[in-house]
Amino acid sequence: MFELLARHPDAVLLSGGTDLMVSSNQRHVRYPTLLSLAAVSELQRVEWRAAEFVIGAGVPLSQLERELHGERGAELPLLAQLLPLFSSRLIRNRATLGGNLGTASPIGDGAPVLLALGAELTLASAGGRRRVPVRRVSLPGDGHGAHPRPCGRTAR
Ligand SMILES: Cc1cc2nc3c(=O)[nH]c(=O)nc-3n(C[C@H](O)[C@H](O)[C@H](O)COP(=O)(O)OP(=O)(O)OC[C@H]3O[C@@H](n4cnc5c(N)ncnc54)[C@H](O)[C@@H]3O)c2cc1C
Repeated sequence: MFELLARHPDAVLLSGGTDLMVSSNQRHVRYPTLLSLAAVSELQRVEWRAAEFVIGAGVPLSQLERELHGERGAELPLLAQLLPLFSSRLIRNRATLGGNLGTASPIGDGAPVLLALGAELTLASAGGRRRVPVRRVSLPGDGHGAHPRPCGRTAR
């Protein structure tokens, strides 16, 4: 994927498309190059580890909702409560947390919950990857697409 991004530096990442396609349909934004993340398997799975729940940035919210249904939900009640309230089933079947943070809407539901949970993001680039607490990441978006970058003292 990073090779493709290097070859197409103007490419826009496409996850569920529920924000990007609104921009396309309603604001008539045109994307010369869209790079789908669907084939990046690492982004498409969730994983329960001993002391953490790892959510791939490309996991549809409906899948996350199923994962947190029942007993598991008690471990992350805030997230389990948010998901059924997030838009409609149709949107949740496509929408992802990666896209929610990527859009950086000031009224987005993902960031406040992740902040409250003390979540960390794994940021990846061709140069490597690092984990950064959500509170240390600035999302300088206008609600139509952010460029997440670490900020604050602990970011290296
Ligand atoms: C009818 C409707 C109702 C909605 N209701 C809600 C709601 O209740 N609450 C809410 O918060 N939002 C809502 N939204 C907005 C939208 O559904 C969410 O922001 C959703 O989480 C976006 O995810 P996506 O995968 O569809 O993003 P996409 O549209 O695929 O991408 C959005 C942005 O994020 C970038 N991006 C995507 N994946 C990544 C990644 N892995 N890394 C870096 N950048 C990435 C893209 O390049 C793009 O700039 C709604 C939208 C619609 C159309």
